[in-house]
Amino acid sequence: MSGFTRDPKYYGDRLVYEALLTKWGRYHARCGCKNNWITDHAESAGFTVVRQGSGFVALVGPDLTEDVDETRLTTNALWKAVTGEKGAQDWFEPVRVIDRSEKAEAERKAVNDQVHGQRRERAAAAKAEPVTEAQLRYLTKLITKASKERFNDEFAAAIKGT
Ligand SMILES: [Zn+2]
Repeated sequence: MSGFTRDPKYYGDRLVYEALLTKWGRYHARCGCKNNWITDHAESAGFTVVRQGSGFVALVGPDLTEDVDETRLTTNALWKAVTGEKGAQDWFEPVRVIDRSEKAEAERKAVNDQVHGQRRERAAAAKAEPVTEAQLRYLTKLITKASKERFNDEFAAAIKGT
């Protein structure tokens, strides 16, 4: 999700705006140009890319994350830069704070491990297990028995007419 974020792991004590590329790409369609909205609009307007991940870009800049009242955050400045239109957002966005304390990281790791563990178990179960010696003997017996019965049936059928 796009949003104002504080994450000490990636941004230190800086407030950033994480913009979803799909969402802001759509907003940029209003502009009509074929340029890159990050370099040709956001950066040109004075915003700085501090991190780019899969599907999002984290920006800082004047009137977005700098020189702003953090209780009255909007994306109007970025909107203006990207669409060319005056931003009309009149509601304020909260700041998402990522807790990187040891306790919070441990909890995140525990959830991750659990999810990965379940995935590994499912993958292992899905793989065909090799047949054991005992299973092989049983299967061989089953086939032999089945053929013998079949043989008997066919033998009976064959001698019926004689
Ligand atoms: Zn444009």
